[in-house]
Amino acid sequence: TEAALRQSQKMEAVGQLTGGIAHDFNNLLTAISGSLDLLTTRISQGRIKDVDRYVNAAQGAAKRAASLTHRLLAFSRQQTLEPKPTNVNRLVRGMEELIRRTVGPEVDLEMVEAGGLWTTLVDPGQLENALLNLCINARDAMPGGGRITVETGNKWLDRRAAGERELPPGQYVTLCVSDTGTGMTPDVIAKAFDPFFTTKPIGQGTGLGLSMIYGFVRQSGGQVRIYSEVGQGTMVCLYLPRHLGAEEPSEELPELAGALGA
Ligand code: ADP
Repeated sequence: TEAALRQSQKMEAVGQLTGGIAHDFNNLLTAISGSLDLLTTRISQGRIKDVDRYVNAAQGAAKRAASLTHRLLAFSRQQTLEPKPTNVNRLVRGMEELIRRTVGPEVDLEMVEAGGLWTTLVDPGQLENALLNLCINARDAMPGGGRITVETGNKWLDRRAAGERELPPGQYVTLCVSDTGTGMTPDVIAKAFDPFFTTKPIGQGTGLGLSMIYGFVRQSGGQVRIYSEVGQGTMVCLYLPRHLGAEEPSEELPELAGALGA
């Protein structure tokens, strides 16, 4: 019946959500235990000068894990999440330390922020999870180290934009994560967004990262694109719709106010 079908679809959605949250939770536990390992090493070596960095990193990840469980509770209470006008540059900056800890010292992490970035309307917590996931995938593709670039941008696609015919015209805030890793074959690219598709060893990959990112971005009215070349590297771009009709909050404002002594 109609109701049974709806119920089974709902169960499937719950299953995907809990699987997804377990996945994000696991990433955060990895970040916490990584920070604590570094802390232990430093203490045993008697190098305790700036160990509070590792304590802060672990605390930050623990807070994010707590917010994930809150969101799961909110979902079970059938509360929907409100997307918020989000400054992606600021969000990326806030994640930099956690990303650095998570990808480790073999990775050269580069952050490139576009000036005058448009505001987008997304759930900021979900976008943070997506960004961390993309960086973990990038790191996993570079076992011998390499470079990860996180880059924001404004993109205005008109109907005739060459080479991007598959993307609907519109104004997007882009958040792209690129790496100098193994790259992906066309076959892997085709399956990458499927839930539970993974090429990683058992216990390492859940195959949920990209499917969750895809679901979240599509629900937000955006698009996800993978550009990859075997042996060269991969770039995953999130196209997040511009929040139109809103005042553009100037991200320089607090600094400016400070400089003016306000
Ligand atoms: P998982 O990371 O748990 O395997 P994902 O859904 O995030 O799950 O990714 C699915 C697959 O896509 C990965 O197993 C990998 O084969 C491929 N992939 C994702 N990101 C990259 C990347 N940056 N470079 C190379 N391959 C990637």
